[in-house]
Amino acid sequence: MEVSPLKKLEQLEFSLESVTDLSSPSVSSSSPAVATFSCVDGVTELRFLQSDSTHCFNFDLASSKLFKLGPVQFICVSDSSDSSEEKSFSRGVNIKFKDEKDSKDFCDSFDEWRKDAVVQGSSLQNGTVSANKSKFDDKIESSSAKMYFHYYGQLLHQQNMLQDYVRTGTYYAAVMENRSDFAGRVVVDVGAGSGILSMFAAQAGAKHVYAVEASEMAEYARKLIAGNPLFADRITVIKGKVEDIELPEKADVLISEPMGTLLVNERMLESYVIARDRFMSPNGKMFPTVGRIHMAPFSDEFLFIEMANKAFFWQQQNYYGVDLTPLYGSAHRGYFSQPVVDAFDPRVLVATPMFHTIDFTKMKEEDFYEIDIPLNFTASMCTRLHGLACWFDVLFDGSTVQRWLTTAPGAPTTHWYQIRCVLSQPIYVMAGQEITGRLHLIAHSAQSYTIDLTLSAKMWGPGASQGGILQTSTCKFDLKEPYYRMSQPSYPVAQEPPLQAQQQLNTQDIQITNDELEEELLQQLPQNPSTQL
Ligand code: SAH
Repeated sequence: MEVSPLKKLEQLEFSLESVTDLSSPSVSSSSPAVATFSCVDGVTELRFLQSDSTHCFNFDLASSKLFKLGPVQFICVSDSSDSSEEKSFSRGVNIKFKDEKDSKDFCDSFDEWRKDAVVQGSSLQNGTVSANKSKFDDKIESSSAKMYFHYYGQLLHQQNMLQDYVRTGTYYAAVMENRSDFAGRVVVDVGAGSGILSMFAAQAGAKHVYAVEASEMAEYARKLIAGNPLFADRITVIKGKVEDIELPEKADVLISEPMGTLLVNERMLESYVIARDRFMSPNGKMFPTVGRIHMAPFSDEFLFIEMANKAFFWQQQNYYGVDLTPLYGSAHRGYFSQPVVDAFDPRVLVATPMFHTIDFTKMKEEDFYEIDIPLNFTASMCTRLHGLACWFDVLFDGSTVQRWLTTAPGAPTTHWYQIRCVLSQPIYVMAGQEITGRLHLIAHSAQSYTIDLTLSAKMWGPGASQGGILQTSTCKFDLKEPYYRMSQPSYPVAQEPPLQAQQQLNTQDIQITNDELEEELLQQLPQNPSTQL
């Protein structure tokens, strides 16, 4: 159903004696402000901006109410801005007018603009008042978003990121080494969390930083920033999604930490480029500027056996009198659809890695919906390939110093570790043999990706052109359901290539059946795998 066009498109402003945040009156001291009614992207909004720019409060009029406390004093309350599920009035400001005329004019305008906002919302297809349904809400399941922002609303998870000193230290260095990019500039911190990057930008001399955070962490960020008086007056915390909020001015610089495992997990890079298009002035800078996904095939018998071994539980025919084998195939597929997250020894890699670049300054939001990466490697040894190992790095392309933050194997470990997509059917390769394939990432509404991986090895050397071998192995993974394998010890030495792989390949197609594979695995299993791995 079509949304009715708004009657008013112009803005309407009122001067206020003061505005105070009800949730933290001590932090946002009451100060003069301007109230603005406007309609942006179909959302009718009331914004209170303190005249010293320290605080900005956005209210979606469709879900806001006004309560009169006295002739010139009101409270404006609204639904929680970060969760459309919660219908409690969780945000509010205390507003005071200079005189009764201003107060009455404002009240009349509030009623009129609110009527439009509610009508606009009601005419949507689902019949609910949801004029504020944003780009984010359109593509992300509300249950996923709710869990996601609940997670980031907790200090322990922010602490986990802060305690990743490789990550946080690299951001600090990238900002402080490029002071000239920040000094005197307007900065937006996209997904500010605890506000740490905003405070780095302020330390580097930013004129003003808008710290945008959708989760409840915004309240903690306010508190933390208020407790750092050196920066507090130059940082405004705005609680809301970058897709929804408005800023009073354009930004010279965007800073953000939107990377997930495999770079793209969590789909926050889309919010980063939306913020770029909404808030950044044309020649603005982005910290980070580009990201690269690195990939290489790996060989790791221990990991392969460990995963296959998990599914063996379902091979029992007499589990308290019950035959579990009907579910063996499903369990096996389930384990092999989990990307493995851990820090591995780079010696498991069996070819020179390749990379796929994502330029945050150019990539469109829709470009993230499907990412297709053709693969091409040359095997550096004779071995059995178990899948594809991936990691990422990002570049801070500062005017003074270019700095990379890397999550590569062998480099100091970060909280992202590395990720491996393990194939249920390994591939045998010879040194010098070409390995081709495809890594296909398809975004899904639970803020992650379905991964389709195909790896093929073509016959190499004399005879290849005469009907040589083509082994192909394909697997599907859900990036949202990783197997965190952090308790495993790291590998002390590189593995010898398995005996079978050292034998010369003959010129017939190799078909490895599940039965053969399991028999082989059983032979390779240590007596008590759980204590040895
Ligand atoms: N910048 C902080 C936190 C990084 S984690 C730091 O470097 O330590 C990413 C943060 O972005 C989370 O706190 C999450 O709640 C927030 N976030 C994710 N998507 C967002 C969006 N669309 N709008 C606003 N905040 C978002």
